This record gives sequence, structure tokens and C-alpha cells, in this order.
Amino acid sequence: MKGEFLMTEPILRINNLHKKFKDTEVLKGVTLTVNEGEVVVIIGPSGTGKSTLLRCINRLTEPDAGEIYLGEHKIESAKSNLTKVRQRIGMVFQDFNLFNHLTALQNVAIGPIKVKKMNKKDALELAMRELERVGMADKAQNYPAELSGGQKQRVAIARALAMDPEIMLFDEPTSALDPELIGEVLEVMKKLADAGMTMVVVSHEMGFAREAADRIVFLEDGVIAEMGSPEKIFNNPEKERTREFISKIA
Ligand code: ADP
Ligand code: MG
Repeated sequence: MKGEFLMTEPILRINNLHKKFKDTEVLKGVTLTVNEGEVVVIIGPSGTGKSTLLRCINRLTEPDAGEIYLGEHKIESAKSNLTKVRQRIGMVFQDFNLFNHLTALQNVAIGPIKVKKMNKKDALELAMRELERVGMADKAQNYPAELSGGQKQRVAIARALAMDPEIMLFDEPTSALDPELIGEVLEVMKKLADAGMTMVVVSHEMGFAREAADRIVFLEDGVIAEMGSPEKIFNNPEKERTREFISKIA
């Protein structure tokens, strides 16, 4: 078991979160606490609100009701503190979202330069270290168009890490990748998890979930239908719906 020597301070608290788009109620009261160093993997059917839940955390989506705390800090929509909050949360998307006109190195350095006002030399050194961490140092001078999907995603992870986040959110980070490129991204994520990073990961990669997750959350129809250890959720779920879903993705 990983994590038993870690402090279990809650780092992220989501309380009774609700979100509607027009008439569709997507999140119907989601409550979830993530402790420092914990890896939580969220699974669930398509359209069930997994992305919406992650996006509400850093206010890419504005929730209708409920509270979210990062440490002691309540995340609010007021623009003033949002920039600060977003610096503390790293986010990795399915489709990488790299700047195509910047090299891998520049993509990683730009956040520290623009947002943290770090000087250019320090930022480029930091960016190089982060690229090394994800095994991409040799591609530092390449542009996204010259990289494979797996390489782009590793750069995107390095870019998030360069901001020194307290928590990393991953939204289906491997689902746009060719099968042979998935492993290299999961490996980087596994390494991060082993290094004690707090992570919330939407993913149906069962191998990763079994190995890296402390907790699996099964989100269905806008609520947490069931959650527990990978062992419990994958081998011995309480609910028939969970069992059914697991059998589809396994
Ligand atoms: P998941 O990530 O679990 O597949 P999403 O959170 O992306 O699900 O979407 C949940 C539901 O909310 C879907 O029905 C989707 O169409 C809808 N939805 C998501 N974002 C928007 C939006 N910006 N405007 C309208 N509907 C949206
Ligand atoms: Mg999604």
C-alpha cells in the first residue's frame, strides 16, 4: 500500500456541488474530499459529468451551487483570486492544449514567465528540468507538430508541473492517443503518483487505476454512485450498476 506514511490533510474539498446546463442537471450534489498525496481515479459513463466536475474545480465551469476548498481557501468566481487558485492546480486535458507556435521548452516555460513573473533564464532552466522529469529533454527544441501524441501529452504534463501545483487534475489524458502511446504517458503519471503528488484522474485505464489509485470514484448520473479502494470497486463492488460498468471497461 502506498500512502500509509503520508499525512492525510484534506487538500481538496468538494461539497454538494450542483451544475445544470439549460435543463440538464449534470452534477446533482457531488461531495468528495481528496487528501494530500492521494490519487483518486474517477470513472463513469460518457456524459455523466466527469469533465464538468474537474472543470468546476478551477472554475473553467461555474457551478450553480456547492463549495470547493483548496486547503483552507474557498474557490470563488471572483476574478481576483482565480488566477492564484489556478496556479495551485495543474490541469491536463485530453487534447494537450499546447501552443503550436512555441517549442516544447517554451510551452513549459511560458507559465512561470507570464504568470509567476520568473526571469527568462530561470524559467527555461526550470522548464528543462520538468521536461527531463517526463523524459522529453531531447525534444525540448521541437514544436508540437513534430511530436507524437504521447510526447505532446508528456510536454503538457511538464507544463503543468512547472507551475509547482499542489494538485494535478487529469481529464482522460490518454483517450486521444494511439494505443501504443498510452503506456509512456501512464508511466509518467505513475511516477508522479509514486512521488507523492496529489492527483485526481478521470480515466478508464484499469491497469493504471489498479496500480496507482488510492480510491476509485464511480460517478453516474451526476452523483457518486460508489467509491472505494480499487480492490473493492473492481473486484467486489456493492452496486450492480458499478459491476455492470466495470465489466464494460475491463
Ligand atoms: P463526461 O466528461 O462524464 O463525459 P461531461 O462533464 O463532459 O461528461 O458532460 C456532462 C453533460 O453535460 C453532457 O450531457 C454534456 O453534453 C453536457 N455539457 C457539458 N459541457 C456543456 C456546456 N458547456 N454546455 C452545455 N452542455 C454541456
Ligand atoms: Mg469528459
